[in-house]
Amino acid sequence: MITLLIIEDERSLRESMVSYLEPGGYRCITAGTYHEAMKAIDRYDYYCVVVDLNLPDGDGLKIIRLLKENQAKCGIIVISARDTLNDRILGLQTGADDYLVKPFDLSELNARIQSVIRRTRYTGQNYVIFRELIMDPEGKTAVLNGEQLELTRKEFDMLMYLITNKNRVITKDAIAEHIWGDSIYGTDYTEVVYTHMKNLRKKLQAKTGIDWIQTVYGSGYRITEES
Ligand code: CA
Repeated sequence: MITLLIIEDERSLRESMVSYLEPGGYRCITAGTYHEAMKAIDRYDYYCVVVDLNLPDGDGLKIIRLLKENQAKCGIIVISARDTLNDRILGLQTGADDYLVKPFDLSELNARIQSVIRRTRYTGQNYVIFRELIMDPEGKTAVLNGEQLELTRKEFDMLMYLITNKNRVITKDAIAEHIWGDSIYGTDYTEVVYTHMKNLRKKLQAKTGIDWIQTVYGSGYRITEES
C-alpha cells in the first residue's frame, strides 16, 4: 500500500488531511508532535511525508534531514505557515521536494503528493497516473490504490485510450478502431466494445467503489478525474 506520514500538530488540519487522502487509497500514519514523528519514521517505507515545520516540541526541518538520511525514496512535502522566502528556500535546501503554504486546498495537497510520488518513485519512466491509478504502458501493468489491477490486454489498452483522452467523449467506433484496427471491419464490433468495457468497469468499480467511466448515451464513453 502507498503509505504516507502526516506530521502536523493542529489536530483538525491533521484529521481533515487524513479524511481527504484515505479515500484516495493511501494509508495515512499520523504524528502530532516531533516526538511522535520520530517514533513513526521507521515504522514504514513511506512514499511521501507531509511535514509541518512548526511543531510544539521540535523543528520539522530536523525531521526532513533525518528522512533524507534514512529513506532516500521518500518524497517530502513541507506544509507551513512560515511563508517567507527564506523558510521556503531553507525547506527545499534541506531536501524537501515541495512546499505548501497554509492554508491550502486539500485537492492541491493531493495533487502535490501524487506528483512527488511520481518523481521520487517512478523517475525516468513514463508512467501514466490517473486518479489513484498508475499505469505502465511498457510493462502493460496497472496499480490501483497500491494494489495490482488485473486487466486483460484489451482492457488495459481501452483504459489507457480513455485516460489519454480524458474528459472527452470517445465513440465506440474510435475505440474499436484504436484497439482492434482493421480487423474490426465487417464485424459487429458494438457488442465487442460493450462487453470489454463492461468488464473493465466492473474491475475498476470493485477496487474503487465508483464507476469511473461514464456512458454518454448514443455517443460513447468518457473518463474524468472526478465522478
Ligand atoms: Ca504547527
